[in-house]
Amino acid sequence: MLKNKNAVVTGATRGIGREIALTLAKNGANVAINYRTLNKEVENLIEEIKALDVKVFAFKCDVRNVEEVENFIKGTKDEFGSIDILVNNAGITKDGLILRMKEEDFNDVIDVNLKGTFNTTKITAPIMIKQRSGKIVNISSIVGIIGNAGQCNYAASKAGVIGFSKSMARELASRNINVNVIAPGYIETDMTKVLSDKVKEEVINTIPMKKIGSAKDVANLVVFLSSDLSNYVTGQVINVDGGMVMS
Ligand code: NAP
Repeated sequence: MLKNKNAVVTGATRGIGREIALTLAKNGANVAINYRTLNKEVENLIEEIKALDVKVFAFKCDVRNVEEVENFIKGTKDEFGSIDILVNNAGITKDGLILRMKEEDFNDVIDVNLKGTFNTTKITAPIMIKQRSGKIVNISSIVGIIGNAGQCNYAASKAGVIGFSKSMARELASRNINVNVIAPGYIETDMTKVLSDKVKEEVINTIPMKKIGSAKDVANLVVFLSSDLSNYVTGQVINVDGGMVMS
């Protein structure tokens, strides 16, 4: 479905991003990934993508650092010739109730989740505008829609991603660039591994489908939003949450 398309996926070293990178590659896309530390897991991912008979470009880049993002995105363009798909997935949590939350923890989460999305989009948008085509998929969270006690920083960053994406969808629509948001619910990754069994059970009880989602559930929607099948879909927020949030 994505043969000869060139994709950038941030935060692909683990979890949802890793599955997104592999699923895009399985659908024929060449994939550029960033890493902060070149460890065995990143090397394995590079080999796994290569084995799918597509090109892979891996670059050291922290999404908070504008210069590194510029080198990553421009390096991808030089390597692949175009950038057709941008998936802003890199994200962190630093949870705490407002009374105990340090300013630094608030700022860090905004810097990675929201400012990081701005950094990559700002540098990729001119490339897509020149091409007169592109698909941008931003990974938010249902927490950005309904809020969550203990996650005011994370919820603010993810709500910010939704407002940012809708504005981008309006700015870029006339240039044939689609911008959509995926809001995952509870997905099994390192990010959610830290929750106790009791909390996990409580969360599962609030999910109509009564089960935790997988990274694959998110990656499959990324493929749809990156493909020609979604050409008339822009500015939308789609939940992948087993029915947890319905509006
Ligand atoms: P994860 O397993 O913790 O992986 C996070 C990824 O982001 C890693 O690849 C990490 O790279 C990267 N990253 C973090 N800070 C970065 C930075 N400053 N620069 C570049 N890369 C950075 O998380 P996940 O569960 O897969 O989450 C992926 C996305 O889905 C996030 O945006 C998250 O908010 C969202 N989400 C997740 C869930 C869930 O239930 N898991 C639910 C809703 C939304 P390193 O390996 O270098 O740390």
